[in-house]
Amino acid sequence: MNEVGQRFLTTQKELGIITDLDPHKTGDPNGLLLLSCGDADISCGLLDHVRELTGSSRIHQISVNGGALNLAQGSPLPRRRSYAITGIQLMHEIAEACRLKNLTKVAICAHSQCGAAHACGLSEAQAMEWAVRGKFDLRKFFEENGLAAPICSMMHVRWKDRGPRLYFLDARRYAEHHRLAA
Ligand SMILES: [Zn+2]
Repeated sequence: MNEVGQRFLTTQKELGIITDLDPHKTGDPNGLLLLSCGDADISCGLLDHVRELTGSSRIHQISVNGGALNLAQGSPLPRRRSYAITGIQLMHEIAEACRLKNLTKVAICAHSQCGAAHACGLSEAQAMEWAVRGKFDLRKFFEENGLAAPICSMMHVRWKDRGPRLYFLDARRYAEHHRLAA
């Protein structure tokens, strides 16, 4: 990740847009669905993080390059693929998993630096915006389809000086600060 990206993420941390996750706050006795990037550099550690934070080992994982960045309508990630896994397909996949496994919590994760986002030419700032838009679009989809599961946005950051960290991404706070319509 370049200096500009590191500075942007540091500022979001200072603004309280990305915050440390409280252990078990994201947890649920039924386990949870996790949408994340399949990037091998984060996926192993990410599952350990999520298990530790949620206190649940029952994690139904859906991995696709870019993770949460794929969900929003208009996201450049699905658009650049010829085989087209669309955001709406992923939303249906998430909804089906929730119904099949009676999962009552959904965590959607983006990470920095993500190769799939980088391949689309997205900066860290642009990637975070797509992660937030993805949460809003998924919440709308849930409402339209009668799903009540809360959605938790997460951001995994590989800092140059601090190593990997997993954060809660506060979409509402992001939208207020960056004037993004929810
Ligand atoms: Zn990635």
